[in-house]
Amino acid sequence: MKETVLQKLQSELAPQADAKIDYEGEHSRHQVKGNRTGRILIHNAPFIFTCDQNDKTQILTGHSLVIEGDAIKAVAPAGQIQEQNFDAIYDAGKRGGIVITPGFINTHTHPPMYLMRSAMMLDEGEGVDETIAAMPRWEQAMSETDMALGAIGDITEQQKHGITTTLSHYHAFAPLEQASRLTEQNLINAVSVMSNVSPANSPALIEKIISEHTASHSRLAIALHYLYKATPEILTAVNALVNKYDLLFTCHFAESEQVAKNCEEKFGMRETAVLKKFNLLNDRTLISHVIYVRDEEVKTLAATGVGIAHLPTSNVIHKSGVFPFWKFYDANGLPYLSLGTDSVISKSRLDLLSEAYQTRITHLYDRTVKFSSLFKMMTVNGARILHLPDRGRIAPGCKADLVFWKLRDRGFIPYDADEPMTLLGNIITHGGRMVRDLMINGRFVIKNRRHQLVDESKLLQQLQEHHLAMRQRVKK
Ligand SMILES: [Zn+2]
Repeated sequence: MKETVLQKLQSELAPQADAKIDYEGEHSRHQVKGNRTGRILIHNAPFIFTCDQNDKTQILTGHSLVIEGDAIKAVAPAGQIQEQNFDAIYDAGKRGGIVITPGFINTHTHPPMYLMRSAMMLDEGEGVDETIAAMPRWEQAMSETDMALGAIGDITEQQKHGITTTLSHYHAFAPLEQASRLTEQNLINAVSVMSNVSPANSPALIEKIISEHTASHSRLAIALHYLYKATPEILTAVNALVNKYDLLFTCHFAESEQVAKNCEEKFGMRETAVLKKFNLLNDRTLISHVIYVRDEEVKTLAATGVGIAHLPTSNVIHKSGVFPFWKFYDANGLPYLSLGTDSVISKSRLDLLSEAYQTRITHLYDRTVKFSSLFKMMTVNGARILHLPDRGRIAPGCKADLVFWKLRDRGFIPYDADEPMTLLGNIITHGGRMVRDLMINGRFVIKNRRHQLVDESKLLQQLQEHHLAMRQRVKK
């Protein structure tokens, strides 16, 4: 039987046996008593950050969590959980303790482009239009294995920074599906309905993917690079697919002045009006960048619940402009604002904490974006926009996507014990950091700082080899 790309990568990147050992010594927080996938007690975390049902930021002190299967079963003060019958116990209280947050939600990425890190150094200071024009040459030089490997590199780096759910915007479905299976990441797999790099993409192809992948790990969505590139027929077909299959639709939006102008030339109207014309102005649409929008467009977008991926680093690196954060905020649009990393071409560090900090700095000249707002943008807002009501919070019934951060660490300490919100401020303003442990759907994907599903050393070696081979092909 022919080995699939996924099987090949799984065997090439398999972690060494000792990565999975649960050290019983005093330095381990993990203690396994029986079945790994059974009931897990997360014991006595000094601080848990989450949002309640009304989106108010909550700080729980000295709480424990009970995980059953892929979900959180109970959240209670540590002393109240009497039961002893657990298959595994994670001690979040000892040696300074652990701060737990929900897994972060990254609403805009292009994971296979991880293989293109260093391909465009931006040394000459190109703007976004020039950079995008140069990309197809590289992307056309990528095989399916290259794309899957790039996506694995990208997603595992996101996981090391606490991201457990990702929206991928790309022209191919299969490599992202393979990468999400291998890394166990929650992935919204938005596939381009048309693409210069992959001319076969079409509404019919989207429907074919739906019929062929009934049990996929990733969740299909529809992507479009820019609205102005589509014909009215394509946008009509997108709307039909969104309604028929209950899909999300995403596109880059008003990213540069030229893009907004191209849209007016093609359709005789602004991008917001184009969404309205094709019945896409609603909460199943997620748009990224959103820089060149007029005041009335901001009000319309906020009122209709269109999701927004704010990408402050990408916007400044490409000299695209500044997202009108406060206009959306004043139009009651905050619940629909989320954060994304974009690809490594736009933000080399695939981390949302540093993106939250960049958001704070970018918009500081007018007012201050509160830490609690930034926290929501990384968690509940992303979940709302992606229609994942059981993710982005730590509460009974929610999926167990959890990040475990070491408290006795640079950037956390010192903090005000009477005002634990200072910890949230510290973790954001200190910039990105690595997680100690990471759980997705009730499974530890990173344990004792080691990835449980890929050997990172082998992964980095493969990425380097495939990148150099791609460079040779691009040169020809
Ligand atoms: Zn993008």
